[in-house]
Amino acid sequence: MAVGGGLHIDVPSDGYHRNLISCQAACPVHTDARGYVRAIAAGRFEEAYLIARGPNPFASICGRICGAPCEAACRRGKVPRVDADGRFVANDRPIAIRALKRFACEQAGPESRPIGELLSAVRSYVPEVSAGVDEMAALVRAAVEGAFQPGDGQSIAILGAGPAGLSAAHDLALMGFRPVVFESESVPAGMLAVGVPAYRLPRELIAREVAVIERLGVEIRCGVTVGRDISLAQLRKQHAAVIISVGAKSSRRLGLPGEVGPRVYGGVDLLRAVALDMSLDLGREVVVVGGGNVAYDVARTVLRQIAYDTARTAARLLGPSRVHLVSLETLEEMPADTLEILEGDEEGIQRLNGWGPVEIERDHTGAVRGVAFRQCRQVYDAQRRFAPVFDDQVRLTVPCDTVLLSVGQSPNLGFLDEGGEDVEQFRPGWPKVDPSSLASTAAGVFVAGDLAHGTRLLIDAVASGKAAARSVYRYITGREIRIDAVTAHIPLERYRRERGYEAIHRVPVQVTTPEERLRDPERVVELGYTWEEAMREASRCLDCGVTPVFDGNRCVLCGGCADVCPTVCLKLVRLSDLEPETDLDAAIRAALGLDTDLTENSAILKDEDRCIRCALCAQRCPADAITMERVTTCTLWRSA
Ligand SMILES: Cc1cc2nc3c(=O)[nH]c(=O)nc-3n(C[C@H](O)[C@H](O)[C@H](O)COP(=O)(O)OP(=O)(O)OC[C@H]3O[C@@H](n4cnc5c(N)ncnc54)[C@H](O)[C@@H]3O)c2cc1C
Repeated sequence: MAVGGGLHIDVPSDGYHRNLISCQAACPVHTDARGYVRAIAAGRFEEAYLIARGPNPFASICGRICGAPCEAACRRGKVPRVDADGRFVANDRPIAIRALKRFACEQAGPESRPIGELLSAVRSYVPEVSAGVDEMAALVRAAVEGAFQPGDGQSIAILGAGPAGLSAAHDLALMGFRPVVFESESVPAGMLAVGVPAYRLPRELIAREVAVIERLGVEIRCGVTVGRDISLAQLRKQHAAVIISVGAKSSRRLGLPGEVGPRVYGGVDLLRAVALDMSLDLGREVVVVGGGNVAYDVARTVLRQIAYDTARTAARLLGPSRVHLVSLETLEEMPADTLEILEGDEEGIQRLNGWGPVEIERDHTGAVRGVAFRQCRQVYDAQRRFAPVFDDQVRLTVPCDTVLLSVGQSPNLGFLDEGGEDVEQFRPGWPKVDPSSLASTAAGVFVAGDLAHGTRLLIDAVASGKAAARSVYRYITGREIRIDAVTAHIPLERYRRERGYEAIHRVPVQVTTPEERLRDPERVVELGYTWEEAMREASRCLDCGVTPVFDGNRCVLCGGCADVCPTVCLKLVRLSDLEPETDLDAAIRAALGLDTDLTENSAILKDEDRCIRCALCAQRCPADAITMERVTTCTLWRSA
């Protein structure tokens, strides 16, 4: 805020200048999305990849499937679009950050070059202007330079090779420990490998991303179930610390009449069977119960399986096949992403909204013949709590021969019986976890991922794994890894944006046709961006790290900046017209001198959500009172 005749008041930053760069603040690992998007716009693709990879060992996978909280927070999505007469049309659409991350990874990630080359690029990367983005390289450098005392090779046992366990292992290896990951499946990567379908996430990409983690010194022992092949008690004896990151991979049941018996499966069990090429007895009329993203993964996968089997055995399997997806919620309330719903509709999924299951009907032989539903009149109460209200009089039976329940997952902690008796649970199946340290109630046992915070996004599991690694470091060395952040303002001479960037519409990501998708169950749906598309989309980024800074000493209060602003985000007001706000008032008085009469001063107010960093205000200012400045945060790694 600039105060006429006064000073520029700097708002203290919390290290990620959260109010300014909303995409970075929204990301659980604080990836500098703005940084890699702007690097793509400038054609610096390797730098873009290195920025994305810094805090995230699963950057390439996130480029394909991340839930992208950064996009939900992107300020471009909040800028109003107006028609020729200045009337509001709609808000603009956010930058396609996830698709751009995929593009950067395709150019310079493990999918594009040998691991050795990639790691030396990561290790030697010193960003010109750091924004807390070079985390991996910084961690390595800090260890090499002795900025913190590295672990001296103690082994750490990690239960589960999902994104949480592998992210913890990745950071522990960089910190000088010897992580050993125990995984019950025959393949690593947890739900990424046995849950997320291959048409969204190619298996080769998972293998490459995991290979990079292994190269850093992480040992992964697949096919070892803790509690069956080795006990938790043994692991606690043999290792300096333990991280439990076994996820929540059991399908929840509903307890309906008819639920137990042939051809009723949990949704994630179906996905696992398909991923591991295991046979499962499926019919040709399938009902999927659920309305979230996992239900769509299940329905779209089973649709592909039926289409594929039909194509292979057309002579034997005649007759119609159908996949119904039945959700409690209305279309507008469904928790699944809009894109999943649209693509599911295109592929031929029969969607039914507003129905709750009451019974799985079986015939006298025990075979499934349908699911009976009752109408759901309301899913949430006034406080948005899940509290469904049903109308028992309105019923519907959907005929089918197979039922897939996709109504949530829960963990299986049977392995605690031997060696985990001191790991307390806050409710059955869920351990008590200290939210800041991720420590369980047992000494030296930490918890990460879905098991620590409930089922969320892949990137939440990554953040949680990294946090657990820091806690293990503290537990073993007695020291704390501190990341000090220093914020600096760098004035930008001759700051200019791409011509017409404010008018460019979000560039759509090309997808395969529904017919192509159903021909091959592993055919990837999203095709990604070409160079031209990526650079064009990236050029839409508002570059929120750059901001106009007003020098109140120079400002002559002409109002030219407000006049020229295309989004009307600046306003010149008299201080006396502002609502009195005690903190603001005190800050202004402190800056101007305690006896200042505020009513004689004016202020320029800026609506941060509307500012598109076009710099027209700075160009227009006759008194050179406005500079475009890059606000940046440098991170320094220390241990104390
Ligand atoms: C079908 C599906 C689709 C999803 N799609 C997306 C998406 O598109 N985007 C997104 O952001 N998130 C998605 N998610 C969420 C994301 O995959 C999870 O949040 C994430 O995988 C959780 O990571 P985790 O490491 O905590 O657990 P998991 O990934 O579940 O990994 C836990 C691992 O522990 C192993 N394990 C369990 N018990 C034992 C034992 N006793 N001994 C040894 N090993 C054991 C398991 O086999 C598993 O490999 C999806 C989830 C599912 C189920």
